[in-house]
Parts: sequence; structure tokens; C-alpha cells
Amino acid sequence: MALALSDQLQEMRLGDHLCLIYETPEERMAAIVPFFLHGFERGEACVYIADDHSVEEVKHALTRNGIEVHAQIAGGALRFATQRESYLPNGRFDPDSMIEFLRGSMNAALAAGFSGYRVTGEMSWALGPEPGCERLIEYEAKLNEFFPGSRSMAICQYNRRLFPAEIIRDVLRTHPLAVIGERVCPNLYYEDPKMILEECSTENRVDWMIRQLTRFHASEYKLKESIRARDEFLSVASHELKTPLTSLSIQVQLLGREAKRHPEQFPVLPPLGDRIEQAVRQTKRLASLVDTLMDVSRVNRGRVDLELAPVDVSSVVHEAVERATEEAKEKGVVIHLDHVDSVRARVDRLRLEQVLTNFLSNAVKYGDGKPVSVELRATGRAFVVSVRDQGIGIKSEDLDRIFTRFERAVSAKNFPGLGLGLFVAHEIAKAHGGKISVESEPGKGSCFALEIPLEPTQGMVALH
Ligand code: ADP
Repeated sequence: MALALSDQLQEMRLGDHLCLIYETPEERMAAIVPFFLHGFERGEACVYIADDHSVEEVKHALTRNGIEVHAQIAGGALRFATQRESYLPNGRFDPDSMIEFLRGSMNAALAAGFSGYRVTGEMSWALGPEPGCERLIEYEAKLNEFFPGSRSMAICQYNRRLFPAEIIRDVLRTHPLAVIGERVCPNLYYEDPKMILEECSTENRVDWMIRQLTRFHASEYKLKESIRARDEFLSVASHELKTPLTSLSIQVQLLGREAKRHPEQFPVLPPLGDRIEQAVRQTKRLASLVDTLMDVSRVNRGRVDLELAPVDVSSVVHEAVERATEEAKEKGVVIHLDHVDSVRARVDRLRLEQVLTNFLSNAVKYGDGKPVSVELRATGRAFVVSVRDQGIGIKSEDLDRIFTRFERAVSAKNFPGLGLGLFVAHEIAKAHGGKISVESEPGKGSCFALEIPLEPTQGMVALH
């Protein structure tokens, strides 16, 4: 899942120079508020350079977004300056004086005991008639000689609706990092300050373009490599876990059976039987997690192998519900079998069970303790098993992505899980020539339905 903007901004360090290209006031605050909050956390002095008329407005907006403006001002950690005081002293703009102004403010903040200096400026002044404003890009390029290695960092704010495209283009040439919407983007179009400040020959520009291409390719390659390493780890780890776990599982189950058969052998500690039963249950859970991991690594390699045979689907549904009922009871959840048509189909029995178990355990996990209902219906050429809960539901924008591996629409803190069950279920459905559909409303509940043709069109299906 993508990192939230606030988390991406947290990775920024002193020395960084970012532009924020925004279109709405909300977009602007979404970046500036976390930028300041991270600064306060690190004991840095924060400065906001506002349009001459909008200082009060900005203070209100920051307050509305959770910044304790007055307290931070009182503690000296937050200061406001107007564009006139900073960029346009004496009614003119001079890049070098502005950089000296920043250096002076940074040194004053450090002398006052702050660990660093972070500044954000609204750049709308650059559109004004004052002499020097046309030197904006020279200034932005020079900042790339000032910031790296200094104890300060900046976000320069550019309103895309206000600035002509030529300026935005140059802004993108002069900021190593660009905040666009929810993302902090490493900027592919960033040019070395020398290329901007000195006349850049075509020869040098071509060298730069080739360097950029190699750099871009290297980062793509690194990403692919790390995904490959993760998949390989998944495959090796799940196989390595499987062998000792199978043996442990057999031993614990034997112990459980013995405890039941000869209760007189366990007279001293009557709860021992219960404990063994718990151990059996936990080992089963662990085994099913490892199975899921193995499935994922198999699917990653492009295959779900099906063992197709005529199966009494109704009995599979009955059994899956029976098994899930045990787990549901612990959570006080009731599972109703509302309707069961008699269905026979050519399917892989274990895979079918696996999908139903995933639906049912999700319905129990995300079902808010309310009853879950299950139906099996024959529809001529196919059958549909649906599992409906009345729980937390899923937002419409998340409905597609939850079928992708590791994608989850809940926080791991509230609902632990790997985000792999539906991914595997979806692949199993596809391999049968079927599909999974979901209907859901946040706060009202979800209904997951698996539809599989009675006679699959394909057998062993390679997935891509
Ligand atoms: P996990 O439950 O381990 O996260 P799944 O792949 O089974 O993995 O589910 C993916 C995500 O889909 C879950 O994290 C959850 O956000 C959402 N989800 C699945 N089933 C339900 C449900 N019945 N109600 C609400 N959300 C669900």
C-alpha cells in the first residue's frame, strides 16, 4: 500500500529542497501541516512566508488542521513572515540577498537552540511587477547550492492555477523533489544548478539526459529486484516452515487423540486436555497460514494447479460452515446456512474449501460480532456460494484492490492479517473459469460471492 503523504514527508531531511505544486488550499495544507509537525517533533524552527495579506488566514488554516499555532509561536518554534519582508525588501527581489536572509534566519534559529530550520514560502510574489522577479529560476537553482549540507530545508509552494506553464516547467527543473498530490516524487526533470545558471551546451545536456535515463532505469531495476527477492523469500520460507510444522501438527493431533481416548492418563491436570485442544487449533491455524504463503509463491510463479473431480458442492458448503462455526463461536458469532441447493460440479474440492474458509473467516473477523449468512444456489450452468456479513464493510474505492496481494483496507493494529486470502481465492476462482464478486457498504456489511461453472472450461490453467 502506498505510504501516506505525511509518512513520505517524514523521510525528508535537512538539506532537502522541495516544490509543492498544488491546485487547492486543501492540497496545500495536506503537505504543509505534516511538514511543520515533523519539524516541531525534531526541535526545528519552522517559518511560513505568506502572501502579504494572508498571514491571518494561514494561521487559521493551520489551527483548523491541528497545529497549535499560538503555543508554537509563544515557544519560538513557529514564525510567520510576509513576502515583502523576506523576498521583496525595498520593493525588489535579489536572489543572493534572499539566500543571505535564509542563512541568517537559519543561524539565528540554531543559535537559539533549535536543531534545524525549515521554511515554506508561498511564491505568488514572483508574479508581481517588482524588479528582480524575473530572476526566480536563478534563485531556485542557487538554492540547490545552498541547501545541501546545510541545517535547513524548504518547501516552495507553487499554485498550478496561478503560474504560467513556463514557470512551473522551470520549477520542475530546479527542485530535486516535487510534492504532487499525495506523493513526494524524486524529480526526474531536476537539473544540476550549473545547467541552469550557466549556458548549457547541447553536449552537456545530452550527457545529463543519458545519466537520467540510467538513473531511472537503475531505480526501476532495484524495485523489480526487491520484489523478486521478496517472492523468493516467501517461497523458500514457506517451504522451510512447512516440513517441521507438518510433523509438529501430526504430533499434537496424536496427543489430542490420546488425551481424549485415555482421560485417566491425564488425571493430575484436568485442563491438560483443553490445552492440547488449543494447541491443535493453533497449529492448524499456523499450518493454514503457511499454506497460504505457499499458494502465493505458487501463484507468483504463474500457476494454480487444480485437481478436478466431480464434487458434491452442497456437502463442501455444509462442512466449511461447520468448521467455521467452531471458530465463530469463540467470537460469539452465529453462522446461518440460509439456502443450499443440491449441486454437483467438476471442481477442485480442497481449493473450493479454501475459498469458502477465507470468506467465512473474513465474515467472522470483519463482521462486528453480528450473524453471518451463507447461501448456495445453482444457476443453470454455474453455482454461486455467497457469504454475507453485517460488519464494518468496505469503501467502494477499496473494492478492487483487496484482491491484490498484500492489499488490505483495514489497519493491521485493529485487524491482524496478511492480505493474501482474497488474492489466492481470486486466483482459484479464475483457474476454475469462475469469478468472485463483492458488494459492500461501509458500516452495513459485505457480501462475497464465488461463482464457478459446473463444468470448467479449462483444466490446469496457467495464470498471468
Ligand atoms: P486479510 O483478512 O488477511 O487482510 P484478505 O485477502 O482475506 O486478507 O482480505 C483483504 C482485505 O479485504 C482485508 O484486509 C479487509 O480490509 C477486506 N475484507 C475482506 N473481507 C472483508 C469483510 N467481510 N468485511 C470487510 N472487509 C473485508
